[in-house]
Amino acid sequence: MRLTRYFLPVLKENPAEAQIVSHRFMLRAGMIKQQAAGIYSWLPLGYRVLRRIEEIVHEEQQRAGHIPLLMPTLQPADLWRESGRYDDYGQEMLRIRDRHERDMLYGPTNEEMITDIFRSHVSSYRDLPLTLYHIQWKFRDEIRPRFGVMRGREFYMKDGYNFDIDKEAALHAYNRHMVSYLRTYERMGLTAIPMRADSGPIGGDDTHEFLVLAATGESEVFYDDAVTGLRLGDRRIDYDDRDQVAAVCREFTSLYARTDETHDEAAFAAVPEDRRKVGRGIEVGQIFYFGTKYSEPMGATVVTAEGNRVPVHMGSHGIGVSRLLGAIIEASHDDRGIIWPEGVTPFQAGIVNLRQGDGACDVACDAMLAALEAKGLTALYDDRDERAGAKFATMDLIGLPWRVTVGPRGLANGKVELTSRRSGESEEMTPEAAVDRLAQIYAGR
Ligand code: ATP
Ligand code: MG
Repeated sequence: MRLTRYFLPVLKENPAEAQIVSHRFMLRAGMIKQQAAGIYSWLPLGYRVLRRIEEIVHEEQQRAGHIPLLMPTLQPADLWRESGRYDDYGQEMLRIRDRHERDMLYGPTNEEMITDIFRSHVSSYRDLPLTLYHIQWKFRDEIRPRFGVMRGREFYMKDGYNFDIDKEAALHAYNRHMVSYLRTYERMGLTAIPMRADSGPIGGDDTHEFLVLAATGESEVFYDDAVTGLRLGDRRIDYDDRDQVAAVCREFTSLYARTDETHDEAAFAAVPEDRRKVGRGIEVGQIFYFGTKYSEPMGATVVTAEGNRVPVHMGSHGIGVSRLLGAIIEASHDDRGIIWPEGVTPFQAGIVNLRQGDGACDVACDAMLAALEAKGLTALYDDRDERAGAKFATMDLIGLPWRVTVGPRGLANGKVELTSRRSGESEEMTPEAAVDRLAQIYAGR
């Protein structure tokens, strides 16, 4: 993509309304535009990252055996009257009346609707286990929307729902979600720590939140520092293997890690003093097991092998897809701008032409762009008639992890420069070698 043909409305000044670094950089890099409090347009660069995050979430959910579908944003109030939540939900719910005076709402979550889908089509234990999920816009009329996409009113969420024959099977679904979430966040370059949490209005016994440590996080967290070193890495997971999946969950939840809601001073005191940490975290996901809380009142039952009709055991599991952009930036930036992890970057490389209009430089940049695209890599070529300093500043702000710099002096020796945004280190090499190196870096991502 040529920058002169793209739409990248970067801001020179720091926007006054942005209180945290991710919000500031998202506005400055032309990723989002606020349309109303907590409601944003996703401009092309932001939209590319959102799509990339969404893709990773889809891949990891389907790897775990979960099935995508799509439910609407608008829901009839009657479903929520069945569960009793229409009155309980309060002012966070955006209530709408249609022309026939029917009560509707913009969904803040989808437990009722998915339970309705289930009860309409499933009636036998043979159809279980079943986990359905979607990635859809939600609306919660938050009292204090702030920090850009971190706490929006309209936001994009993956929410998944498991249906199982009994508690044991449902807890396997819970564990499967935990492991698939760990892998999802790792692919985005994040360390998200599962912490025992409080169940709140969804209700239920077992729940973990996933927190990314960041000074600007809204939750206070207490943890054993050793938990920050745990990695799933590329170990193979058989998601049908209950013991293996449970063992991974034990590994990631045995060390002390809790939010202020469930913090237990006595248990925390047992952590060796030099590993006892108090900090702040951003909630990027949550998983719940809540048994028959919705299936019972809404009549979502199946007939067992023995011929008994029983309510199914359920859980719901969410990932804050749009919030993740903010969380990733909070975790990965410097003074000059964003540093995208390779897994989510909007373009895999940037190309900077140091002397636009110089015949050899222009030809080499065009060839570089074509060669990268031929290898299936995406690149943003800054072909503006600008000073080198301004081009570097833009690249640093938008945070592409790799930059290829093409200038007359290097080209005279047949070389370009490949620079890592994260380390700042540069290496001279031939254009072909730069393409090969980038292809290697991104292999399998
Ligand atoms: P919070 O405690 O931050 O208000 P929640 O616990 O109410 O969030 P869940 O119902 O668990 O949210 O939703 C799943 C995920 O959706 C959260 O972990 C979070 O990442 C994301 N999320 C929730 N509310 C918002 C919001 N207002 N803006 C952006 N993302 C959100
Ligand atoms: Mg939550």
